[in-house]
Amino acid sequence: MGGAFAYISVMTVHPILIHPDPRLKSLAKPIDDLSDELRVLADDMLQTMYHAPGIGLAAPQIGRLQRLIVLDCVKGEGMAPRPLAMFNPEILAASDELNTYEEGCLSIPEQYGEVVRPAEVTVRWIDRDGVEQQEDFGGLWATCVQHEIDHLDGRLFIDYLKPLRRQMITRKMQKLKRELARK
Ligand code: ZN
Repeated sequence: MGGAFAYISVMTVHPILIHPDPRLKSLAKPIDDLSDELRVLADDMLQTMYHAPGIGLAAPQIGRLQRLIVLDCVKGEGMAPRPLAMFNPEILAASDELNTYEEGCLSIPEQYGEVVRPAEVTVRWIDRDGVEQQEDFGGLWATCVQHEIDHLDGRLFIDYLKPLRRQMITRKMQKLKRELARK
């Protein structure tokens, strides 16, 4: 998802895939061995996300079909960042109450659309130390974590929009990719 952030570090910024790309429509594989290489990948993804800038990023967006997402939805001047890396995140429960947010995506730059999702979700994941975590998320965090987990299942926020709007955005992205390829 898009958002404004500043973050300074020496980690690697990866190129982010732009829709349409078959890797963005693929099912990501569960992680069964939390290696140092995957921890570095999580740190790099956070760096890539802050650099974009964005508030969430999923591994398939940098071409890695593994169940790993990162997010930080802290907003406001002077607020401490809260970088979260989630391996194998799962939604355990979702509220009946719904919330509508205008969503964006780093893989679909400068396109936005209103998406309705559960207002609160309970998420379980493995953190970068290999420890199982569980937490209830609301507000922007709830939207963001659902958006990122969707990426692991090959689902994009535009899949929730009306077909005509989705096709229009996809055509714009195809044009953008042709322009980027010429540079
Ligand atoms: Zn996205």
